[in-house]
Order: sequence, then structure tokens, then C-alpha cells
Amino acid sequence: MLNFNFYNPTQIVFGQGQLSQLDSLVPKNAKVLITYGGGSVVRNGVLAQVKAELAKSARSVSEFGGIESNPKFATAMQAVERVRAEQIDFLLAVGGGSVMDATKFIALAAANADYQGQEEQLLIHGFNPVPVNNAIALGTVATLPATGSEMNCFAVISRGEDKLPVYSPLTFPKFSILDPELTYTLPAIQVANGVVDAFVHVVEQYVTYPTGAHFQDRTAEGILQTLLEIGKTTVDEPSNYAARSNLVWSATMALNGLIGSGVPHDWSVHMLGHELTALFGVDHAQSLAVVLPSMWRVRREPKREKLLQYAERVWGITEGGDEARIDAAIANTEAFFNSLGIATRLSAHGIDQQGVERVLQALEKHGMVALSERGDVTLEVSRQVLEMAL
Ligand code: NAP
Ligand code: FE
Repeated sequence: MLNFNFYNPTQIVFGQGQLSQLDSLVPKNAKVLITYGGGSVVRNGVLAQVKAELAKSARSVSEFGGIESNPKFATAMQAVERVRAEQIDFLLAVGGGSVMDATKFIALAAANADYQGQEEQLLIHGFNPVPVNNAIALGTVATLPATGSEMNCFAVISRGEDKLPVYSPLTFPKFSILDPELTYTLPAIQVANGVVDAFVHVVEQYVTYPTGAHFQDRTAEGILQTLLEIGKTTVDEPSNYAARSNLVWSATMALNGLIGSGVPHDWSVHMLGHELTALFGVDHAQSLAVVLPSMWRVRREPKREKLLQYAERVWGITEGGDEARIDAAIANTEAFFNSLGIATRLSAHGIDQQGVERVLQALEKHGMVALSERGDVTLEVSRQVLEMAL
């Protein structure tokens, strides 16, 4: 097992009716800005419930809506102006990964005067922590199980054709309310996206070179098996509480640092996926579903040992030689994504060879030329992966 430093201060309040905890979780004297997305929380009544809970104490509350999927720097900056003008000291994100991520960026940009007027500089640090000292406190009411943003300190922000990670331990939510019932109104495709995003988060930390981290491996395998068990049911039966509650908790546990402690991380699938989203608007999870199978086919040598373990322990594949078992595990993964209505080819998104060239140019521009836990995903490897995914 590799050395690690595990820190996760986010309080999780899980279950039916837990929105009723909001009044006690948000400081009574806070000046709160509620952040939300394109209006789903207005239509399904969640925003009204949140406001009713916050109104139980005499705190000041205002709202900022209109955060888009793959949240834009410019939109987040409008909220930053509001935070500064109204001297907001608590941000409450009500929505999916996009709203939570944007809120983390707002929390950093509004609290660090050094970056005022050059907030885009917060977006240049990649997977290194942003060098800042402050962040506005934030909490979340999560309405879409997928990203794990409710219990981690990462965010992804888009600026023009750049989609870039931002990371600071100061942006862990103070709390997240996870009520599976608040997710019942999600369209089926967003639920399927959530299953796939959580699945890929796990394998980016699990199908890496072995370090003898048995606990992390067994936990990762448990999350993957849970997603296989409930994935189709939770897409087909939106108000099946047993299935949905397992999706919500699996998605959170997939990316809160636990299974990622003491093991190498890959993230090359995410980095290629981000370019597909930035250039062609492919949904985040759908970009991952396209990249993952080809990434494994191209990189079966460096991934061999863990792919065989994945085949056996997650899929129960024990028959046949090594190559056949790896092929079967990758085919099963692809079939699982397809069974949820998620495509695994670039052509399904209308992306052709010319599109591949654009992705490669973007990867080069962003310095994404030595990705993965081994740094062996060069532009040439990315080319092979993308061409195989056509
Ligand atoms: P999202 O972009 O937050 O939301 C997708 C759609 O679902 C939106 O149209 C939203 O509508 C709708 N929606 C959300 N909750 C709903 C509900 N309860 N009922 C009905 N509709 C609902 O999707 P996401 O997959 O959660 O987030 C994707 C973003 O997260 C991407 O930018 C991705 O790169 C990033 N990401 C972050 C991390 C991380 O660790 N922080 C990890 C992976 C990915 P409204 O806008 O109208 O609310
Ligand atoms: Fe993701």
C-alpha cells in the first residue's frame, strides 16, 4: 500500500426527509446564497422546501440560479460578484455536480482578494491544490448521484473550450444532505449517466498497478458490484428507494478519497472525456463510456494484472486464457453501459476522424501528454484510444 493522508471533513446527512436538518446545519446568523442550476429544483419544489427550512431562523437568504451543466467560468463569476456585493458568508448548492462544482469555485474566487480580476488563474493548477488561504463555507443539497462532488474537494470548470479541474481542501462541503427521494425527478438518462460516472470513478482508482491494497480493492469491487446490481433497476424504476439509495451512497463513496487512499490513480479516461465534452458537448459520463473500453483495450499490458482481477472478482470470469478473460471483462463493461442506454462509440455522438484530431490538439494545448498512473498515455496512445473508439 502506498503512503497516504486521508482527510474528509464533510458531514453526510442521509435519507428520506433529511432536508428537515437544514436549519440546524446552516449557521443561524449566516448570510446565505443558494446556488442552483437551470430550474429543475424550481419545477420539482426542492428550492421552495430549502427556502422554507432556511426561513425557520432569522438568517438572510438570497438566490443565484442559472448555473449550466459543465458550469462556465463566466456564470460562476456573476455569482462571485453577488457574494462580494452582498457579503455572503455561506453558500448552499442545491443541485447536481455542476452546481456543486461551480459553488466550490465561487467559494474560492470570492474569498481570495489576491485573485481579484484574474480569477482564471485559479484554473491553472490541475491536480495540485490551488495556493489559497480562504474559501467561503459551503454546504450542499445534492439532487443527482454521480460526481461525488458532495463529499470531495474537486470541481471542474469550463472556460471557452477549456474544461479544467480545480482542487482545494478548503472546498470540502461542511455538510451534504443526500435524500435519495430528491433524485426521483431525474430523467432516466441522467440516472444512467450517474451510474456510469460513479463506475468510472471507481475504476480510475482501482484498475491501476497493484500495491497490495486489499481493503481498497475489496471496497472498490463492492461499489462496482453494487452499481451492477442496481444500475438497470434504478434507471427503470425511478422511485425504487432501495435501488436509488444504493446508487446515491455508491456514487458518494466512489470519489470521497476512501478507495483512492494508498493506491495509484489513473484519470486519463476523465481527461480525454473532458476534451470531448468541451469540444462537442457530450455529457460527462457519456464521454467516459466512449473512452474507457478503448483505453483498456489499448493499455491491456500495463493494466494486465488488475484487469484480470477485475474480470474475476467483479464479473466472475474464471474460464479461458488471460487474453480471453480480459476481452470478456471489457465487453461486459461495454454491454453494461449499453444496457443503460449509454453509447460507447464516438460515432454515436457524430464525432469522426476530424473530431479526433481536434481532441488531440486540445490535449496537447492543455499539457495532457503524459497521463495515467504511469504517465504513459502520450498523445500517440490517446490517438490510438480515440481512433479505436470511432
Ligand atoms: P449536472 O450537470 O449537475 O446536471 C445534469 C442535469 O440534471 C441538469 O440538466 C440538471 O437540471 C438536471 N437535474 C439535476 N438534479 C435533478 C433532479 N433532481 N431532477 C431533475 N433534473 C435534475 O450533472 P452531474 O453529472 O451531476 O455533473 C456533471 C459535472 O460534474 C460535469 O461538469 C463534470 O465534469 C463534473 N464532475 C465533477 C466531479 C467532482 O469530483 N467534483 C467528478 C466528476 C464529474 P438543472 O440544471 O435544471 O438543475
Ligand atoms: Fe466524473
